[in-house]
Amino acid sequence: MTEFQRICLVHYHEIGLKGHNRATFETRLLKNLEALLGAFPVVTIHRIAGRLCVFLKEGTGWETAKAVADLIGQVPGTARVSCGFKCPRDLDEMVRAARAAMDEAGEFSSFKVAARRNHTDFEIGSMDMNRIVGAALCAAYPDKRVRMKDPDLTVGVEVVQGAAYVYARSLPGIGGLPVGSSGTVACLLSSGIDSPVAAWRMARRGAVCVGVHFSGRPQTSDASEYLVDDIARVLERTGCIARVHTVPFGDCQREIALSAPPSLRIIMYRRLMFKVAEEIARREGAGALVTGESLGQVASQTLDNIRCTDAVVELPVFRPLIGTDKLEIIGEAQRLGTFDISSQDAPDCCTLFMPRSPETHAKLPVVLEAEDALPIERWVGELADAAEVRDYACAAYRPRTRRAHATAEAAR
Ligand code: ATP
Ligand code: MG
Repeated sequence: MTEFQRICLVHYHEIGLKGHNRATFETRLLKNLEALLGAFPVVTIHRIAGRLCVFLKEGTGWETAKAVADLIGQVPGTARVSCGFKCPRDLDEMVRAARAAMDEAGEFSSFKVAARRNHTDFEIGSMDMNRIVGAALCAAYPDKRVRMKDPDLTVGVEVVQGAAYVYARSLPGIGGLPVGSSGTVACLLSSGIDSPVAAWRMARRGAVCVGVHFSGRPQTSDASEYLVDDIARVLERTGCIARVHTVPFGDCQREIALSAPPSLRIIMYRRLMFKVAEEIARREGAGALVTGESLGQVASQTLDNIRCTDAVVELPVFRPLIGTDKLEIIGEAQRLGTFDISSQDAPDCCTLFMPRSPETHAKLPVVLEAEDALPIERWVGELADAAEVRDYACAAYRPRTRRAHATAEAAR
């Protein structure tokens, strides 16, 4: 056990964070971290000179501190996270804290000291601190070399008002913006590989994600719903999903399959999905739809078909994966931790009533004519009403109040 208090310093990119924007960003990230670290021995989180500092309880061990840092690194808005100690503003104390941090940081053969002084009321400048702390550490580790360019280890020393923070283990985070700083989006979430990655990418840009899943129920089992729940729990770990609406879509698909030309079925299912998702988005106060489509991946993802589905909704449709290859998406899903869940087979509406040869170049007037025979508007309301809702922990999410909803509706 060490005598110093353990801390994690959270660094964020400062580009684009000016004026008022910056305080909002910091407060949002702080609140998100507070909620996500609830199960860890955290005393408090403070804003300190362009960083957030997570203070850990006395007696917290290295493994726990590392687990805290690893989670923080996956939270949108974190550009870098460093594990270390708080110590008095005294050079000898800083050297002792640095040694404690270096002893835990794993194998290294070269290092450098990077000091930063945020208050000029500390009389020693950062260059001098680098030199003095560096020399003391050289003496303490005679077999290690100081290297300014690409050292194995960088020992950070940050002096602020009233204290110093010293760390040796520092890892890049996922970057982006804290969830809740960019509004709400409705993500069409299947149990496949792509759509969880698409949702995650939007969360990383600060959007609160509300999922909409179309289940084949009652024409299929509810297996896909369990997979989507498992996927949502993975996204929940880093605050990247707020809730999921599950829409029982099987009966309407059956009606479409019975009445529409087989080649148009998929495009018609998808247009109906988009309309229902848009209705749910409206109820949630979401400003856009999100899908996991990637250009040309399957028949429904040709330019013509994308245009044909987009034509049915007014909200913008974001496709964060449109220009990515499947292998890249798989790699991202693996890092995210959703890949193994998504690789399990479950019948959902995508496997239901599929035609042999779907249309790849749908023409809008032809599709509109086929839809004329169906009570689409009525279905949209009924399906949105029939959706089952499941909530996940997301500190940034505020369910829309009836009053806010009524005001927004009146403004439409
Ligand atoms: P995924 O794209 O999630 O890996 P997939 O490739 O099987 O699944 P596609 O048929 O390519 O799905 O559908 C493209 C996009 O449409 C999905 O990324 C998702 O956003 C949306 N989508 C498809 N099926 C569903 C569903 N059952 N519920 C909600 N959204 C869906
Ligand atoms: Mg796909």
